[in-house]
Amino acid sequence: MTTASAPPASGGLDFTIPADLRDVLDRVRAFVDEEVLPAEAEVVDPEDLAAAWPIIERLRDGARERGIYTPHLPERFGGFGIGVLGMSLINEICGVSMLASLAINAMAPDEGNMHTLLMAGTEEQLETWLRPLAEGRIRSCFAMTEPDVASSDPTNLQTTAVRDGDEWVLNGTKWCISGGDGAGIAIVVAKTGTDDAAGHRNYSLILVPTDTPGWRVARDPEFMGAHYVGGHPVIEIDNVRVPASNLLGNEGEGFVIAQKRLAGGRLAHAMRWIGASQRVLDLAAERLISRTAFGKELAEQQALQFMIADSAMDLYASRLMVLHTAWKVEHGMPHRQEVAMTKTFVSEAFGRIADRAVQIHGAAGIAKDLPVARIYEDARSARIYDGASEVHRMVIARTCLQLARKGESTRSGAGDLT
Ligand SMILES: Cc1cc2nc3c(=O)[nH]c(=O)nc-3n(C[C@H](O)[C@H](O)[C@H](O)COP(=O)(O)OP(=O)(O)OC[C@H]3O[C@@H](n4cnc5c(N)ncnc54)[C@H](O)[C@@H]3O)c2cc1C
Repeated sequence: MTTASAPPASGGLDFTIPADLRDVLDRVRAFVDEEVLPAEAEVVDPEDLAAAWPIIERLRDGARERGIYTPHLPERFGGFGIGVLGMSLINEICGVSMLASLAINAMAPDEGNMHTLLMAGTEEQLETWLRPLAEGRIRSCFAMTEPDVASSDPTNLQTTAVRDGDEWVLNGTKWCISGGDGAGIAIVVAKTGTDDAAGHRNYSLILVPTDTPGWRVARDPEFMGAHYVGGHPVIEIDNVRVPASNLLGNEGEGFVIAQKRLAGGRLAHAMRWIGASQRVLDLAAERLISRTAFGKELAEQQALQFMIADSAMDLYASRLMVLHTAWKVEHGMPHRQEVAMTKTFVSEAFGRIADRAVQIHGAAGIAKDLPVARIYEDARSARIYDGASEVHRMVIARTCLQLARKGESTRSGAGDLT
């Protein structure tokens, strides 16, 4: 599971986790149980994780000692090159705590940004930006969304980058840029082409060090749930000049690269949501066996049992979807449809599971003393970021209907396993 290899022959379905990956997963789980979960109690304000940075640094030292720090990076950058499938399983374990992904330096958006740099960066860009990211000396952000346009449609984006001699000059406004406050480097999606017919091919990725004059975090609005270090600020980009060599990948390939980055990123999120879902399901089950009403344990009420059963089924389907999709990605097989279906289903299952857990907990489900309310809030945004549900449904349906128009079965658009 850790390295790409030829897909098993037909009929070779095998859910065994190889011994080397099992060992990594056991170490990650022990780390989360023994160091990360106990550290949650030290976090004064879960909505201000930047203030908890000394705790995160201490946990990172622990992760390094256990040999599980930056597992997604190649050895050269301090990791051990674990694949998408292995990372999916690690992310499930990390999903139980808001601190865990940060502790192994594989949190969003940095994990995706590191992959993007690895995929498209020049040697100089890797040494200048990936190296300090890998070592945890800086954080990063990915700046695509804009406040004034419907950013689900990338061809709406208005931020421009114009060549002036040996420099790019950028202008525009971004918002909802996770980790943007305090990030050292930003990967900015900017319009570099002017040919309307080129559509998304007009956009490129440009690396902008955030201490460049003209780059300004204008404000950091409060968001429901999803408490990233560095918030989701509005960023004003006013005549920001960077060297021409800060282009990441080729001109006009911004969305081609972003699309590749998103497969792993969406699966990483999906697995973290599964981890969080598992945590609230465990809390809900414990709650039901510890309280009585109307003369019997709450766990004996069939209406509540059905909630537990529905959440267990949502979780099982979610896990299988992520693993199958990650397996396809890792073996270089077509996976766009599977990623869209998995992202949509798992984000929505997460919402249902968190909602049931709130209901089962009664008032305690709303109080922020327990993690249930925070996880419920986090779940809501999962249906919006990394492609909103409606946009993924549009893509999923289009694939199925294209097959039907060709007179073919929709099977290959519906997760065919044969
Ligand atoms: C927690 C969080 C973190 C984020 N982090 C980042 C980040 O780090 N970097 C970044 O660049 N962005 C980030 N975003 C922004 C996110 O990528 C956008 O919110 C998302 O792409 C949707 O764009 P929009 O908000 O402009 O919605 P809009 O494009 O205005 O869409 C509004 C609604 O209309 C629906 N819609 C759009 N088109 C159609 C259609 N054809 N048919 C049916 N319905 C449609 C959408 O699904 C959505 O529900 C983050 C968002 C959240 C919530």
